[in-house]
Amino acid sequence: MTARPVIDTQGDPTAEAAPVTVRASLSPSRAADFKTCPLLYRFRSIDRLPERPTVEQARGTLVHAVLERLFDLPAPARTPESAGDLVAPQWDRLVTAEPELSTLFADDDTAGVEGFLRSAAALLEGYFAVEDPRRLEPAEREALISAVVDDELLIRGYLDRLDVAPDGALRVVDYKTGGAPREAFEARALFQLKFYALVLWRTRGVVPRVLRLLYLKDAEVCDYAPDAEELVRFERTVVALWRAIEQATVRQDFRPRPSRLCDWCSHQSRCPSFGGTPPPFPVAAAAPDPLVDARSRPATPGADE
Ligand code: SF4
Repeated sequence: MTARPVIDTQGDPTAEAAPVTVRASLSPSRAADFKTCPLLYRFRSIDRLPERPTVEQARGTLVHAVLERLFDLPAPARTPESAGDLVAPQWDRLVTAEPELSTLFADDDTAGVEGFLRSAAALLEGYFAVEDPRRLEPAEREALISAVVDDELLIRGYLDRLDVAPDGALRVVDYKTGGAPREAFEARALFQLKFYALVLWRTRGVVPRVLRLLYLKDAEVCDYAPDAEELVRFERTVVALWRAIEQATVRQDFRPRPSRLCDWCSHQSRCPSFGGTPPPFPVAAAAPDPLVDARSRPATPGADE
């Protein structure tokens, strides 16, 4: 794979950054893909097969955008009404930025769009049931964080929100908007949060005190407190996962692993578990751009990012 110099000074801007040679990059979404189903990883990361956006994914993107912008407002103005007022303008902005979103609704389907916007507003009500944003001042939102582990693997991704307490304690917050059964995705969501915790620990020297999942549809909070030993083990898991991905790439051997998540997979028609045939393995896959994966923010099978 292509070697690229990466300088990582995150969390310590005064530090003299030493160039690091990165051999590969891995985002939590793609790592979770491989854990969930190696063939799904192949379809997304190697074949790079397009996935049509779904209404559920679009709703998740919209709600994330509104929650990000909500914190641009002065604290007293972060009310449910203000959040509701952001829904339509944010949808317009997203459609302009990603025109394929407009294909979710027919041109004359005004009622469909209005219903969609109402459903996003309903998720925001779930948010206000579990948090009061007037009492919060996030340190970071939609922040790209990264770290190099095992001397050559760049791990990075976008976290929804990072809160920093006056005593320096970190809380990583992830909004979950999907309507899918929670238990089907909880392990995947926690894997993603541990990924962020590992990056923060490696770059800032602080183990986040809380990893928080906010389930907006159910208006529920799920908190998890990691510790350093666990993150050491998790780091080994991530590195082992990457080595497994490398081996599978060399062998061109990515097997399907059917599970409940298949119900949300866009690639059933090409999956042997559903009678399909994968496309020929791409010739260029032996030397993919290792950093492309981390630059994008791909959706999970459950459309819950
Ligand atoms: S349908 Fe299921 S087994 Fe097949 S690629 Fe998708 S997630 Fe994997």
